[in-house]
Amino acid sequence: MTDAAPIDLRSDTVTRPGESMREAMAHAPVGDDVYGEDPTTNELEERVAELLGHEAGLFTPSGTLANMLGVRTLVEPGTELIADSLAHVVRAEMGGHAVLGGVTTRTWTSPGGVFRAAEPLGMMVPDGGSYSVSTAAVAIENTHNFAGGLVADIEELRSLRAGTSDAAVAVHLDGARLANASVASGVSLREYGELADSVSICLSKGLGAPVGSVLVGSAERIARARIMRKRYGGGMRQCGILAAAGLYALDNNIDRIADDHENAALIARTVAGVAPGVVDPDSVATNIVMLKVGTGGPDGITAAQFAADAADRGVLMSVLSPTTVRLVTHLDVSAEQAKASAAILAELATTAG
Ligand SMILES: *Cc1c(COP(=O)(O)O)cnc(C)c1O
Repeated sequence: MTDAAPIDLRSDTVTRPGESMREAMAHAPVGDDVYGEDPTTNELEERVAELLGHEAGLFTPSGTLANMLGVRTLVEPGTELIADSLAHVVRAEMGGHAVLGGVTTRTWTSPGGVFRAAEPLGMMVPDGGSYSVSTAAVAIENTHNFAGGLVADIEELRSLRAGTSDAAVAVHLDGARLANASVASGVSLREYGELADSVSICLSKGLGAPVGSVLVGSAERIARARIMRKRYGGGMRQCGILAAAGLYALDNNIDRIADDHENAALIARTVAGVAPGVVDPDSVATNIVMLKVGTGGPDGITAAQFAADAADRGVLMSVLSPTTVRLVTHLDVSAEQAKASAAILAELATTAG
C-alpha cells in the first residue's frame, strides 16, 4: 500500500458530504415526514417531480426501495416486468420485487449494452389471457450501470414509449444516474422523465448526497407508493436533514458531473493508449469505465488479481466478473487523482491485456 489515502473508484456511492452540504443539512427546517410535515422533504419531493415533469415525488432511503415502489405501482402480483438482463432491478435488488411485490420478470439481452426498443416491444405480452403471464411494465435503466454507464438513445426511448402506450404497457425508468445521462447527452431530465410512468433518481450517486433517492409519478401513483413505503418500513421522520443534502446537490452538483465524465474518458484513453484491448475509449459515455483484464483462464491475469495489484498501488475498483473490473469517477475524485490513477492502471494494464 502507498501512504496516501487510496483513490476510491469502486463506485460513485462512496462520496462524503463536504462542509457546505453539511451546513445545509444542519440548518434544515424539519418536521415529522410520516405526518407529511417535514418542509424540507416536501420541498425536495416537489423539486424533483417538477424537474422530471411529473406531478409528485416521494423521498426514499434507497434507490432499491424507489424502484420497488415504482414498479409495484405498475405491476400487480402475478403479472410481469420485463427488463434488460443486466438491469439493477433484476440483478442487484435482492429479489425484492418478487419477494415483497409478487412481481415476475423476463429479460432481454442488449448486445454491447446498447438499448434497443425493439427488444422489449417484441417480447411483451400485454394480454396473456388465461395461459400466459401478462406484461404490465417495461423497466429501463439510464445510464445503464452494468453495461458501463451507457446512455439510452432518446429516439429509442421515444419509440419504446409509443409502442408500450399502444399496448397499455407501463414504463418504469431506473434513473439512478439520470443526471449523468442528461449531462452527457444534453437531453433534459424532463424529456427523459416524461417518457416513463414512474422514475427513480439517486441523490447518493453522482449527485454526492449521503443518502436517498426520489421516486416520481402521478399524484395518485405516489400516494399509493407512500403507503407502501411505510408498509416496507421506509417511513422516515425528521428526514429533512437528509433531504437538505439532496436539495443542495440539485443546486450545486449537477453541472459538475461533466468533470466526472472527462476524468473517466481520460482514464480510458490513457489505458487504451498502452493496452487497446483492455478498453475502448468510445465505449465510455459517462462516469463508468469497464476494463477487460485477461481471459480469467490459466494464462491471463484475473480481474481480482488486477484489482488487488491496483489496490496495492492505491487505486480501488470493483471486480464485476473474472475478466472485468469497473471504475467509477465521482465528486471526490479530482482531475489530478484521475490522472494519477490512469498512469497506475496503464502500467498494470500493459501486463494484463
Ligand atoms: C445504485 C443503483 C440503484 C439503487 O441503489 P441503492 O444502493 O439501493 O440506492 C438502482 N439502480 C441502479 C442502476 C443503480 O446503479
